[in-house]
Amino acid sequence: MKIRMPFCYGFCCIFFLIIQLHSTPSWAEKVPIIASIFPIADMIQQVGGDHVDVTFVLPAGASPHTFEPKPSLVRTFSSARIFFMVGAGLEFWADKFVKLAGSELMTVVLSQGVDLIETTEHDHENHPHEKETMVPENKPMVANPHIWLDPVIAKSMVNKITVALCEVDHQNVSYYKQRSLDYLQALDTLHQMIQGTVSTFKMKKYIAFHASWDYFARRYGLESMGVIEAAPGRNPTPIQIKNIVAMIDKYHIRAVFAEPQLNYRAAEVIAREADVKVLLLDPMGNPKQKYGNSYMDLMKHNLNIFKEAMR
Ligand SMILES: [Zn+2]
Repeated sequence: MKIRMPFCYGFCCIFFLIIQLHSTPSWAEKVPIIASIFPIADMIQQVGGDHVDVTFVLPAGASPHTFEPKPSLVRTFSSARIFFMVGAGLEFWADKFVKLAGSELMTVVLSQGVDLIETTEHDHENHPHEKETMVPENKPMVANPHIWLDPVIAKSMVNKITVALCEVDHQNVSYYKQRSLDYLQALDTLHQMIQGTVSTFKMKKYIAFHASWDYFARRYGLESMGVIEAAPGRNPTPIQIKNIVAMIDKYHIRAVFAEPQLNYRAAEVIAREADVKVLLLDPMGNPKQKYGNSYMDLMKHNLNIFKEAMR
């Protein structure tokens, strides 16, 4: 017996298929996401897995403090569904790109709700990236944006990332939630590892290159005794160099830290004067690097550098 399919049935199938194709959003395959810096992009990738397509704005080796975006960034922004940024003044360049992208782009500020470290120490005149807030005495304060270098704060960032992904991609909510839980657990392990290692340090004082490790120091009970560059890109004066060298002698500090994203000539001058080593801490990481091609590895690498100077 021959089964005959009515003509209207076939037609309806095709019609339904066309409707399906048209009503499916363009990120049905992967949600296009843009992050300002690599460590955030990696966190998004850890949660989003196969369902996200993440790009990040700052090229490898660039410092967020001296970054100059290319106009072509407009295209990247207009094709993204979510933009994740740190806030606290780090992405001083982002406003116009967000505005041009229009209301289709969801912007998530990951420092929202974080207990920010504010300081007057910085030379804010030379600090376009830092948000100024006023304290009652009208003293200008600047927020320190380096929140991701505290793994406990990183957990709150991961939670915000998870909420945003679930909001734009309902189909994969359970996938995101499970991956988020796994990653949060890994961050807990990282936190405990850092805590354990730092507790064995004989030295708790350090000289920073700029204020990038303040959140890390606050979390693990370390103390920054001075900053080589009060504002990224600004060299210390001879008097400041003398003061830092005196500090190194006084507290028997064994190394000064520098960062690969910023010119660290000043750190080398100080190290030579004080007869100590220069060690490189990396707050940014880089997917092409052996160390630090994930947030997790980056933090482990930096812990080892701290250990070398302070154990
Ligand atoms: Zn920095």
